[in-house]
Amino acid sequence: MKAEPQAQRRLLDLQAIDTALAQIAHRRRTLPENAALEALARELSALEDERVRAQVAVDDLDRDIARVEKDVDQVRARKDRDEARLTMGTGPARELEALQHEVVSLTRRQSELEDSELELMEQRETAQGSLDEVTGRLDGARGRRGDTEVRRDELLAEIDADEQSRIAARGPVAADIPADLLGLYDKIRSSSGGLGAALLTAGRCGGCRLELSGADRARIKASAPDEVVRCEECRRIMVRTAESGL
Ligand SMILES: [Zn+2]
Repeated sequence: MKAEPQAQRRLLDLQAIDTALAQIAHRRRTLPENAALEALARELSALEDERVRAQVAVDDLDRDIARVEKDVDQVRARKDRDEARLTMGTGPARELEALQHEVVSLTRRQSELEDSELELMEQRETAQGSLDEVTGRLDGARGRRGDTEVRRDELLAEIDADEQSRIAARGPVAADIPADLLGLYDKIRSSSGGLGAALLTAGRCGGCRLELSGADRARIKASAPDEVVRCEECRRIMVRTAESGL
């Protein structure tokens, strides 16, 4: 393939832009904020599970307390009724005696229920403390996620702007290069890790960094300036300039 030396040198400008674009794409893919957000998502999911468990514990205790309170109310109502009947003092003596016994046992029952209610309320206080603690941690993690998202979005906007300006610069550079040379460059670039053309410098291929053999050097030196030469090792286009050391 033949191309004006100037067009060949323009390939190096294009390569610089394409390398920058590849670095931009890599930066976008590997933003530390994305890894941090993934870790935060896992943390939030675990904390959310923990919060649900803590809430269930509080709800269970509320239900238990309500049940005990209902029992206390029933016992108290029955005791009040019995005591009212005792105060009236009407009815057979045996019945009144039975009522007195019942009042004693209801009083004991009420006291037991009130003790267990107190115990449940203490447990509820502890459970509420755990719930508040996990809710606090959840809020903290959500805050960190929000901050990280903002930072990631700022970086993405920065990366997008950088990319747009490189893409805008690429057009005019590519326009300076003949279509067949551009096609060859693109083909090599896609199969050679993004590097299609490199400077031949001090007798060394700028692509694979290998030093040319004496025979290669002689062959390249003998080839016309408009001949597009390629590295025997990596097949990349070697662009010759005054620095090429031929
Ligand atoms: Zn090479």
